[in-house]
Amino acid sequence: MKCYLGLGANLGDRAQTMRLALRQLAAAPGVTVAAVSALYETPPWGKTDQPPFLNAAACLHTDLAPHQLLRLCQRIEQGLGRQRHEHWGPRPIDLDLLHIPGVTLSDATLTLPHPYLTQRAFVLVPLADIAAGEIIVGKTVADWLAAVGDRENIVKTEEAGWETL
Ligand code: AMP
Repeated sequence: MKCYLGLGANLGDRAQTMRLALRQLAAAPGVTVAAVSALYETPPWGKTDQPPFLNAAACLHTDLAPHQLLRLCQRIEQGLGRQRHEHWGPRPIDLDLLHIPGVTLSDATLTLPHPYLTQRAFVLVPLADIAAGEIIVGKTVADWLAAVGDRENIVKTEEAGWETL
């Protein structure tokens, strides 16, 4: 199964924490990291009195079921220092399951596709690097991106070696 993952961080060494998260995912049994986007800097969201985020997207191939993959991501978040669960607050790492082709579900712990996916430039800009033609909720990622505002606030950063995990 293919899964598109969103990564975000706005505390500490953001790029390094995101790289560590991808390395830990790649090291997990049954998970391969197939593609990684560029890194983008994004103004803070929701609560605006916090540092800017770095955002990226990755494509994983995995044998894990969606909820197993979510639990793996949550363990990695906790291991990398995520403590409080302040909604939209600052965090050293945020891992979101964005989309699993062919899977639509919503329960107490997991909603797929991710509910913000089609409306957030900071999700769509990195996702378009690796999945521009993927159809999600009836439109391609490129089409969702063309329709969203605030794209110009999402700035690609030159982070040496980011793509080499
Ligand atoms: P957040 O604090 O924004 O990272 O939200 C984490 C919460 O969102 C967790 O309780 C998850 O169970 C829930 N959640 C629902 N859908 C998803 C998804 N597609 N990816 C990640 N977390 C999700």
